Amino acid sequence: MGLRLYNSLTRSKDELIPAAPPAVSLYTCGPTVYNYQHVGNYRTYIFEDLLVRTLKLLGYAPKRVLNITDVGHLTSQGDEGEDKMEVGAAREGKTAWDVAKFYTDAFLADWKKLGLLDADEMPRATGYIKEQIAMVAELDKKGFVYKTSDGLYFDTSKFPRYGEMMTKEHLEGLKSGARVEANPEKRHNTDFALWKFSPAGAKRQMEWDSPWGKGFPGWHIECSAMARKILGDSIDIHCGGIDHVPVHHTNEIAQSEGATGKPFSRFWLHGEFLLMNNAKMAKSAGGFVKLADLEEKGFSPLDYKYMCYTAHYRKQLDFTWESLESAKTARRRLRDAAQALPAATKADAAASARLREALADDLNAPGALAAVWDALKSSCEPGAKRAFLDEAESALALGLFAAETEAAVPAEVAALVASRAEAKAKKDFAESDRIRKRIEDMGWLVKDGKDGSKAVKK
Ligand code: AMP
Ligand code: ZN
Repeated sequence: MGLRLYNSLTRSKDELIPAAPPAVSLYTCGPTVYNYQHVGNYRTYIFEDLLVRTLKLLGYAPKRVLNITDVGHLTSQGDEGEDKMEVGAAREGKTAWDVAKFYTDAFLADWKKLGLLDADEMPRATGYIKEQIAMVAELDKKGFVYKTSDGLYFDTSKFPRYGEMMTKEHLEGLKSGARVEANPEKRHNTDFALWKFSPAGAKRQMEWDSPWGKGFPGWHIECSAMARKILGDSIDIHCGGIDHVPVHHTNEIAQSEGATGKPFSRFWLHGEFLLMNNAKMAKSAGGFVKLADLEEKGFSPLDYKYMCYTAHYRKQLDFTWESLESAKTARRRLRDAAQALPAATKADAAASARLREALADDLNAPGALAAVWDALKSSCEPGAKRAFLDEAESALALGLFAAETEAAVPAEVAALVASRAEAKAKKDFAESDRIRKRIEDMGWLVKDGKDGSKAVKK
Protein backbone atom coordinates (compact mmCIF):
# COMPACT_ATOMS: atom_id res chain seq x y z
CA MET A 1 0.00 0.00 0.00
CA GLY A 2 1.35 3.43 -0.89
CA LEU A 3 2.17 5.77 1.95
CA ARG A 4 0.98 9.30 1.35
CA LEU A 5 2.56 12.09 3.38
CA TYR A 6 2.00 15.82 3.42
CA ASN A 7 5.15 17.39 2.05
CA SER A 8 5.76 21.00 3.15
CA LEU A 9 7.89 21.49 0.04
CA THR A 10 5.14 20.69 -2.50
CA ARG A 11 2.29 21.65 -0.14
CA SER A 12 0.43 18.48 -1.05
CA LYS A 13 -0.02 14.91 0.07
CA ASP A 14 2.36 12.91 -2.09
CA GLU A 15 3.13 9.24 -2.28
CA LEU A 16 6.47 8.36 -0.72
CA ILE A 17 8.81 6.84 -3.25
CA PRO A 18 12.11 6.22 -1.46
CA ALA A 19 15.34 6.40 -3.43
CA ALA A 20 16.37 2.83 -2.54
CA PRO A 21 13.38 0.91 -1.16
CA PRO A 22 12.84 -0.71 1.23
CA ALA A 23 15.41 1.62 2.87
CA VAL A 24 14.07 5.02 3.95
CA SER A 25 16.54 7.61 5.22
CA LEU A 26 15.09 9.90 7.82
CA TYR A 27 16.59 12.91 9.61
CA THR A 28 14.71 14.38 12.58
CA CYS A 29 15.78 17.54 14.41
CA GLY A 30 16.32 16.78 18.08
CA PRO A 31 16.51 18.60 21.39
CA THR A 32 18.64 21.51 22.45
CA VAL A 33 20.00 20.12 25.69
CA TYR A 34 20.18 23.21 27.92
CA ASN A 35 16.97 22.43 29.80
CA TYR A 36 14.31 19.76 30.11
CA GLN A 37 12.20 19.08 27.05
CA HIS A 38 8.51 19.90 27.54
CA VAL A 39 5.57 17.81 26.45
CA GLY A 40 5.22 20.06 23.36
CA ASN A 41 8.62 18.86 22.17
CA TYR A 42 7.52 15.30 22.86
CA ARG A 43 4.45 15.76 20.69
CA THR A 44 6.81 16.20 17.75
CA TYR A 45 8.87 13.12 18.68
CA ILE A 46 5.67 11.08 19.12
CA PHE A 47 4.54 11.96 15.60
CA GLU A 48 7.99 11.03 14.27
CA ASP A 49 7.86 7.72 16.13
CA LEU A 50 4.49 7.01 14.54
CA LEU A 51 6.10 7.69 11.16
CA VAL A 52 8.94 5.24 11.86
CA ARG A 53 6.54 2.56 13.11
CA THR A 54 4.20 3.07 10.16
CA LEU A 55 7.11 2.71 7.75
CA LYS A 56 8.00 -0.58 9.43
CA LEU A 57 4.41 -1.80 9.40
CA LEU A 58 4.24 -1.10 5.66
CA GLY A 59 7.42 -3.08 5.00
CA TYR A 60 10.03 -0.34 4.79
CA ALA A 61 13.37 -0.32 6.60
CA PRO A 62 13.77 3.20 7.99
CA LYS A 63 17.13 4.50 9.15
CA ARG A 64 16.59 7.37 11.51
CA VAL A 65 19.02 10.02 12.69
CA LEU A 66 18.08 12.23 15.64
CA ASN A 67 20.58 14.95 16.46
CA ILE A 68 21.39 16.39 19.85
CA THR A 69 22.06 20.12 19.71
CA ASP A 70 24.72 20.82 22.31
CA VAL A 71 26.26 24.00 20.93
CA GLY A 72 25.43 27.07 18.88
CA HIS A 73 21.63 27.40 19.29
CA LEU A 74 21.28 31.05 20.25
CA THR A 75 18.55 32.59 22.36
CA SER A 76 17.13 34.54 19.40
CA GLN A 77 15.77 32.99 16.19
CA GLY A 78 18.38 35.06 14.34
CA ASP A 79 22.06 35.13 15.06
CA GLU A 80 22.05 37.40 18.07
CA GLY A 81 21.84 36.61 21.72
CA GLU A 82 23.69 34.07 23.79
CA ASP A 83 24.35 30.41 23.22
CA LYS A 84 21.59 28.53 25.08
CA MET A 85 24.18 26.08 26.43
CA GLU A 86 26.15 28.86 28.09
CA VAL A 87 22.91 30.32 29.47
CA GLY A 88 22.15 26.92 31.02
CA ALA A 89 25.67 26.71 32.43
CA ALA A 90 25.41 30.14 34.09
CA ARG A 91 21.95 29.30 35.48
CA GLU A 92 23.11 26.07 37.06
CA GLY A 93 26.71 26.89 37.99
CA LYS A 94 27.95 23.94 35.92
CA THR A 95 30.04 23.69 32.78
CA ALA A 96 28.22 23.76 29.43
CA TRP A 97 29.47 20.19 28.91
CA ASP A 98 27.92 19.01 32.18
CA VAL A 99 24.65 20.77 31.35
CA ALA A 100 24.59 19.00 27.97
CA LYS A 101 25.20 15.64 29.59
CA PHE A 102 22.58 16.12 32.30
CA TYR A 103 19.78 17.16 29.93
CA THR A 104 20.70 14.57 27.31
CA ASP A 105 20.33 11.87 29.98
CA ALA A 106 17.02 13.37 31.15
CA PHE A 107 15.78 13.42 27.55
CA LEU A 108 16.75 9.79 26.97
CA ALA A 109 15.00 8.71 30.18
CA ASP A 110 11.79 10.45 29.02
CA TRP A 111 12.20 8.91 25.58
CA LYS A 112 12.20 5.42 27.12
CA LYS A 113 9.17 6.16 29.26
CA LEU A 114 7.26 7.25 26.16
CA GLY A 115 8.10 3.94 24.51
CA LEU A 116 9.72 5.61 21.49
CA LEU A 117 11.96 3.52 19.26
CA ASP A 118 15.65 4.31 19.55
CA ALA A 119 17.05 6.28 16.63
CA ASP A 120 19.70 4.43 14.64
CA GLU A 121 22.15 7.24 15.29
CA MET A 122 22.06 10.13 17.71
CA PRO A 123 24.93 12.45 16.74
CA ARG A 124 25.88 15.43 18.92
CA ALA A 125 26.74 18.73 17.21
CA THR A 126 30.00 18.95 19.16
CA GLY A 127 31.00 15.54 17.77
CA TYR A 128 30.89 16.80 14.17
CA ILE A 129 32.78 20.10 14.27
CA LYS A 130 35.24 18.97 11.58
CA GLU A 131 32.41 18.15 9.17
CA GLN A 132 30.70 21.47 9.85
CA ILE A 133 33.90 23.42 9.19
CA ALA A 134 34.44 21.45 5.97
CA MET A 135 30.93 22.29 4.76
CA VAL A 136 31.35 25.99 5.53
CA ALA A 137 34.67 25.92 3.62
CA GLU A 138 32.95 24.28 0.67
CA LEU A 139 30.19 26.89 0.68
CA ASP A 140 32.85 29.59 0.90
CA LYS A 141 34.64 28.17 -2.15
CA LYS A 142 31.36 28.20 -4.06
CA GLY A 143 30.79 31.88 -3.27
CA PHE A 144 27.92 31.67 -0.77
CA VAL A 145 29.79 33.10 2.20
CA TYR A 146 30.82 36.55 3.43
CA LYS A 147 32.57 37.63 6.58
CA THR A 148 31.54 40.22 9.15
CA SER A 149 33.19 41.28 12.38
CA ASP A 150 31.35 38.55 14.33
CA GLY A 151 31.35 35.60 11.96
CA LEU A 152 30.79 34.01 8.57
CA TYR A 153 27.37 34.39 6.98
CA PHE A 154 25.44 32.63 4.23
CA ASP A 155 24.43 35.10 1.52
CA THR A 156 20.85 34.04 0.79
CA SER A 157 20.69 36.16 -2.38
CA LYS A 158 23.21 33.77 -3.95
CA PHE A 159 20.81 30.84 -3.58
CA PRO A 160 17.93 31.65 -5.94
CA ARG A 161 15.53 29.08 -4.50
CA TYR A 162 15.96 30.41 -0.98
CA GLY A 163 12.72 30.31 0.99
CA GLU A 164 10.92 27.88 -1.32
CA MET A 165 9.28 26.12 1.61
CA MET A 166 8.00 29.33 3.21
CA THR A 167 4.29 30.03 2.98
CA LYS A 168 2.66 33.33 1.98
CA GLU A 169 2.36 34.19 5.69
CA HIS A 170 6.05 33.61 6.29
CA LEU A 171 6.98 35.80 3.34
CA GLU A 172 4.58 38.55 4.45
CA GLY A 173 6.13 38.35 7.92
CA LEU A 174 9.55 38.85 6.37
CA LYS A 175 8.38 41.87 4.38
CA SER A 176 6.77 43.48 7.38
CA GLY A 177 10.10 43.24 9.17
CA ALA A 178 9.35 40.49 11.69
CA ARG A 179 12.82 39.08 11.10
CA VAL A 180 14.80 42.32 10.95
CA GLU A 181 18.13 41.66 12.53
CA ALA A 182 20.08 43.82 14.87
CA ASN A 183 23.30 43.10 13.00
CA PRO A 184 23.86 45.98 10.52
CA GLU A 185 26.68 44.10 8.83
CA LYS A 186 24.31 41.54 7.39
CA ARG A 187 23.59 42.07 3.71
CA HIS A 188 20.05 40.69 3.76
CA ASN A 189 17.81 40.06 6.71
CA THR A 190 17.49 36.36 5.82
CA ASP A 191 21.28 35.80 5.81
CA PHE A 192 22.38 33.58 8.68
CA ALA A 193 25.52 32.65 10.59
CA LEU A 194 27.55 29.62 9.54
CA TRP A 195 30.41 30.21 11.96
CA LYS A 196 30.55 32.68 14.84
CA PHE A 197 33.76 34.05 16.33
CA SER A 198 34.38 33.81 20.04
CA PRO A 199 33.95 37.33 21.44
CA ALA A 200 37.27 39.23 21.60
CA GLY A 201 38.90 39.00 24.99
CA ALA A 202 36.44 36.40 26.29
CA LYS A 203 36.91 32.66 26.45
CA ARG A 204 33.88 30.57 25.60
CA GLN A 205 33.50 27.15 27.23
CA MET A 206 32.82 25.60 23.84
CA GLU A 207 35.05 26.89 21.06
CA TRP A 208 37.18 25.44 18.29
CA ASP A 209 39.89 26.58 15.89
CA SER A 210 38.83 27.10 12.30
CA PRO A 211 40.48 28.53 9.16
CA TRP A 212 38.66 31.82 9.95
CA GLY A 213 39.38 32.12 13.66
CA LYS A 214 38.38 30.58 16.97
CA GLY A 215 34.65 30.18 17.41
CA PHE A 216 31.68 27.86 17.15
CA PRO A 217 29.24 26.72 14.45
CA GLY A 218 25.96 28.47 13.69
CA TRP A 219 22.97 26.37 14.71
CA HIS A 220 21.72 25.27 11.27
CA ILE A 221 24.97 23.90 9.85
CA GLU A 222 25.06 20.94 12.25
CA CYS A 223 22.00 19.32 10.67
CA SER A 224 23.23 19.80 7.10
CA ALA A 225 26.67 18.41 7.94
CA MET A 226 25.49 15.45 10.06
CA ALA A 227 22.68 14.42 7.69
CA ARG A 228 25.18 14.38 4.83
CA LYS A 229 27.85 12.50 6.73
CA ILE A 230 25.51 9.82 8.09
CA LEU A 231 22.75 9.51 5.46
CA GLY A 232 24.26 10.95 2.28
CA ASP A 233 23.77 14.03 0.07
CA SER A 234 20.09 13.35 -0.59
CA ILE A 235 17.68 11.84 1.90
CA ASP A 236 14.09 10.62 1.77
CA ILE A 237 12.42 12.42 4.69
CA HIS A 238 13.30 15.26 7.04
CA CYS A 239 11.09 16.09 10.04
CA GLY A 240 10.69 18.61 12.80
CA GLY A 241 8.23 20.95 14.45
CA ILE A 242 6.32 23.48 12.34
CA ASP A 243 8.43 26.36 13.73
CA HIS A 244 11.37 25.02 11.73
CA VAL A 245 9.82 25.74 8.31
CA PRO A 246 10.73 29.41 7.81
CA VAL A 247 14.18 29.52 9.45
CA HIS A 248 15.96 26.33 10.47
CA HIS A 249 14.83 24.04 7.64
CA THR A 250 14.83 26.79 5.04
CA ASN A 251 18.45 27.47 5.99
CA GLU A 252 19.36 23.78 6.05
CA ILE A 253 18.11 23.46 2.44
CA ALA A 254 20.17 26.48 1.34
CA GLN A 255 23.35 25.11 2.97
CA SER A 256 22.99 21.49 1.85
CA GLU A 257 21.90 22.21 -1.70
CA GLY A 258 24.37 25.07 -2.01
CA ALA A 259 27.18 22.68 -1.05
CA THR A 260 26.14 19.54 -2.97
CA GLY A 261 24.14 20.94 -5.87
CA LYS A 262 21.63 18.10 -5.27
CA PRO A 263 18.16 18.09 -3.71
CA PHE A 264 18.56 17.67 0.05
CA SER A 265 15.38 15.93 1.21
CA ARG A 266 12.53 14.74 -0.98
CA PHE A 267 9.95 15.02 1.83
CA TRP A 268 9.68 17.59 4.61
CA LEU A 269 7.21 16.74 7.37
CA HIS A 270 6.26 19.14 10.13
CA GLY A 271 4.32 18.53 13.31
CA GLU A 272 1.95 21.24 14.53
CA PHE A 273 2.26 22.81 17.94
CA LEU A 274 1.02 21.69 21.26
CA LEU A 275 -0.66 24.75 22.75
CA MET A 276 -1.18 25.76 26.32
CA ASN A 277 -3.49 28.65 27.23
CA ASN A 278 -3.86 29.42 23.51
CA ALA A 279 -0.15 29.87 22.86
CA LYS A 280 2.64 27.57 21.71
CA MET A 281 4.02 25.66 24.66
CA ALA A 282 7.56 26.99 25.00
CA LYS A 283 10.34 27.08 27.53
CA SER A 284 10.76 30.81 27.07
CA ALA A 285 7.05 31.51 27.66
CA GLY A 286 7.04 30.43 31.29
CA GLY A 287 4.21 27.90 31.41
CA PHE A 288 5.51 24.57 30.27
CA VAL A 289 4.80 21.04 31.39
CA LYS A 290 7.44 18.34 31.68
CA LEU A 291 6.89 14.62 31.49
CA ALA A 292 7.76 14.37 35.20
CA ASP A 293 4.90 16.80 35.98
CA LEU A 294 2.44 14.39 34.37
CA GLU A 295 3.84 11.45 36.31
CA GLU A 296 3.65 13.36 39.56
CA LYS A 297 -0.08 13.79 38.97
CA GLY A 298 -0.47 10.07 38.41
CA PHE A 299 -0.48 9.96 34.60
CA SER A 300 1.53 7.53 32.55
CA PRO A 301 3.60 9.10 29.74
CA LEU A 302 1.59 6.74 27.50
CA ASP A 303 -1.64 8.51 28.51
CA TYR A 304 -0.07 11.62 27.01
CA LYS A 305 0.80 9.67 23.89
CA TYR A 306 -2.84 8.58 23.59
CA MET A 307 -3.87 12.22 23.92
CA CYS A 308 -1.52 13.16 21.08
CA TYR A 309 -3.11 10.51 18.87
CA THR A 310 -6.56 12.06 19.33
CA ALA A 311 -5.50 14.85 16.95
CA HIS A 312 -3.83 14.64 13.55
CA TYR A 313 -0.19 15.72 13.75
CA ARG A 314 -0.82 18.63 11.37
CA LYS A 315 -3.53 20.10 13.63
CA GLN A 316 -2.82 22.18 16.69
CA LEU A 317 -3.63 20.44 19.95
CA ASP A 318 -4.53 22.11 23.23
CA PHE A 319 -2.95 20.72 26.35
CA THR A 320 -5.45 20.58 29.22
CA TRP A 321 -5.49 18.35 32.28
CA GLU A 322 -9.11 17.43 31.44
CA SER A 323 -8.20 16.07 28.03
CA LEU A 324 -5.29 14.19 29.55
CA GLU A 325 -7.70 12.69 32.08
CA SER A 326 -10.02 11.53 29.25
CA ALA A 327 -7.04 10.04 27.41
CA LYS A 328 -6.06 8.19 30.56
CA THR A 329 -9.55 6.73 30.95
CA ALA A 330 -9.73 5.75 27.29
CA ARG A 331 -6.33 4.07 27.38
CA ARG A 332 -7.22 2.18 30.54
CA ARG A 333 -10.44 0.88 28.93
CA LEU A 334 -8.51 -0.14 25.86
CA ARG A 335 -5.88 -1.97 27.93
CA ASP A 336 -8.50 -3.73 30.03
CA ALA A 337 -10.35 -4.88 26.91
CA ALA A 338 -7.12 -5.93 25.18
CA GLN A 339 -5.84 -7.87 28.16
CA ALA A 340 -9.12 -9.75 28.55
CA LEU A 341 -8.71 -11.31 25.08
CA PRO A 342 -7.50 -14.90 24.62
CA ALA A 343 -4.35 -15.94 22.71
CA ALA A 344 -3.92 -14.54 19.21
CA THR A 345 -5.02 -16.44 16.13
CA LYS A 346 -4.90 -14.66 12.78
CA ALA A 347 -5.48 -10.89 12.64
CA ASP A 348 -8.88 -9.81 11.43
CA ALA A 349 -8.21 -8.77 7.83
CA ALA A 350 -10.80 -6.00 7.66
CA ALA A 351 -9.54 -4.33 10.83
CA SER A 352 -5.96 -4.71 9.71
CA ALA A 353 -6.68 -3.11 6.33
CA ARG A 354 -8.48 -0.21 8.02
CA LEU A 355 -5.58 0.47 10.37
CA ARG A 356 -3.08 0.48 7.50
CA GLU A 357 -5.32 2.71 5.40
CA ALA A 358 -5.58 5.26 8.21
CA LEU A 359 -1.83 5.31 8.84
CA ALA A 360 -0.94 5.31 5.16
CA ASP A 361 -3.12 8.40 4.76
CA ASP A 362 -0.61 10.90 6.18
CA LEU A 363 -0.40 9.15 9.58
CA ASN A 364 -4.05 9.59 10.51
CA ALA A 365 -3.74 8.64 14.19
CA PRO A 366 -7.37 9.45 15.16
CA GLY A 367 -8.43 7.17 12.29
CA ALA A 368 -6.12 4.44 13.57
CA LEU A 369 -7.59 4.73 17.08
CA ALA A 370 -11.11 4.51 15.63
CA ALA A 371 -10.09 1.34 13.75
CA VAL A 372 -8.90 -0.17 17.04
CA TRP A 373 -12.06 0.70 18.98
CA ASP A 374 -14.33 -0.55 16.19
CA ALA A 375 -12.39 -3.81 15.95
CA LEU A 376 -12.90 -4.37 19.67
CA LYS A 377 -16.64 -3.76 19.34
CA SER A 378 -16.94 -5.91 16.21
CA SER A 379 -18.40 -9.39 16.15
CA CYS A 380 -15.19 -11.00 14.95
CA GLU A 381 -13.60 -13.87 16.82
CA PRO A 382 -11.70 -12.89 20.03
CA GLY A 383 -8.40 -14.52 18.97
CA ALA A 384 -8.50 -12.53 15.70
CA LYS A 385 -9.12 -9.35 17.67
CA ARG A 386 -6.12 -10.10 19.84
CA ALA A 387 -3.89 -10.71 16.79
CA PHE A 388 -5.08 -7.44 15.28
CA LEU A 389 -4.35 -5.57 18.51
CA ASP A 390 -0.80 -6.92 18.49
CA GLU A 391 -0.42 -5.36 15.07
CA ALA A 392 -2.00 -2.08 16.20
CA GLU A 393 0.29 -2.02 19.23
CA SER A 394 3.35 -2.34 16.99
CA ALA A 395 2.32 0.91 15.33
CA LEU A 396 0.78 2.87 18.20
CA ALA A 397 2.88 1.59 21.12
CA LEU A 398 0.34 2.44 23.82
CA GLY A 399 1.50 -0.21 26.28
CA LEU A 400 -1.69 -2.23 25.76
CA PHE A 401 -0.16 -5.50 26.91
CA ALA A 402 2.50 -4.24 29.30
CA ALA A 403 2.01 -4.52 33.05
CA GLU A 404 1.39 -0.99 34.23
CA THR A 405 3.82 0.34 36.77
CA GLU A 406 1.92 2.01 39.53
CA ALA A 407 2.45 5.70 40.19
CA ALA A 408 4.97 6.31 42.97
CA VAL A 409 3.24 7.12 46.24
CA PRO A 410 4.38 10.44 47.75
CA ALA A 411 5.96 10.16 51.22
CA GLU A 412 3.18 12.24 52.79
CA VAL A 413 0.47 9.91 51.46
CA ALA A 414 2.41 6.82 52.55
CA ALA A 415 2.71 8.26 56.08
CA LEU A 416 -1.06 8.87 56.21
CA VAL A 417 -1.75 5.31 55.06
CA ALA A 418 0.41 4.05 57.95
CA SER A 419 -1.38 6.33 60.49
CA ARG A 420 -4.73 5.12 59.22
CA ALA A 421 -3.66 1.48 59.67
CA GLU A 422 -2.69 2.29 63.27
CA ALA A 423 -6.04 4.00 63.94
CA LYS A 424 -7.85 0.99 62.48
CA ALA A 425 -5.83 -1.40 64.61
CA LYS A 426 -6.91 0.61 67.66
CA LYS A 427 -10.49 0.42 66.35
CA ASP A 428 -10.60 4.24 66.19
CA PHE A 429 -12.80 4.20 63.09
CA ALA A 430 -13.68 7.89 63.26
CA GLU A 431 -9.98 8.73 63.04
CA SER A 432 -9.29 6.18 60.30
CA ASP A 433 -12.19 7.59 58.23
CA ARG A 434 -10.88 11.12 58.74
CA ILE A 435 -7.45 10.08 57.49
CA ARG A 436 -8.94 8.25 54.51
CA LYS A 437 -10.74 11.46 53.57
CA ARG A 438 -7.46 13.42 53.76
CA ILE A 439 -5.75 10.86 51.53
CA GLU A 440 -8.59 11.14 49.03
CA ASP A 441 -8.35 14.92 49.03
CA MET A 442 -4.73 14.47 47.99
CA GLY A 443 -5.83 12.49 44.95
CA TRP A 444 -5.29 8.94 46.27
CA LEU A 445 -7.50 6.02 47.26
CA VAL A 446 -6.79 3.55 50.05
CA LYS A 447 -7.16 -0.09 49.07
CA ASP A 448 -7.36 -2.61 51.92
CA GLY A 449 -6.11 -6.05 51.03
CA LYS A 450 -4.82 -9.24 52.60
CA ASP A 451 -1.30 -7.80 52.91
CA GLY A 452 -2.43 -4.54 54.47
CA SER A 453 -3.44 -1.20 52.97
CA LYS A 454 -1.92 0.61 50.05
CA ALA A 455 -2.55 3.88 48.23
CA VAL A 456 -3.46 3.89 44.56
CA LYS A 457 -3.86 6.94 42.38
CA LYS A 458 -7.53 7.98 42.05
P1 AMP B 1 14.12 22.44 20.74
O1 AMP B 1 14.61 21.63 21.91
O2 AMP B 1 13.57 23.77 21.14
O3 AMP B 1 15.20 22.59 19.68
O4 AMP B 1 12.88 21.67 20.06
C1 AMP B 1 12.85 20.30 19.77
C2 AMP B 1 11.70 19.97 18.84
O5 AMP B 1 10.42 20.26 19.43
C3 AMP B 1 11.71 20.74 17.51
O6 AMP B 1 11.38 19.86 16.44
C4 AMP B 1 10.64 21.80 17.70
O7 AMP B 1 10.09 22.21 16.47
C5 AMP B 1 9.62 21.04 18.54
N1 AMP B 1 8.70 21.89 19.34
C6 AMP B 1 9.03 22.98 20.10
N2 AMP B 1 7.92 23.49 20.73
C7 AMP B 1 6.87 22.72 20.37
C8 AMP B 1 5.45 22.70 20.68
N3 AMP B 1 4.90 23.60 21.52
N4 AMP B 1 4.68 21.74 20.11
C9 AMP B 1 5.22 20.81 19.28
N5 AMP B 1 6.53 20.76 18.95
C10 AMP B 1 7.36 21.69 19.47
ZN1 ZN C 1 17.85 20.53 12.42
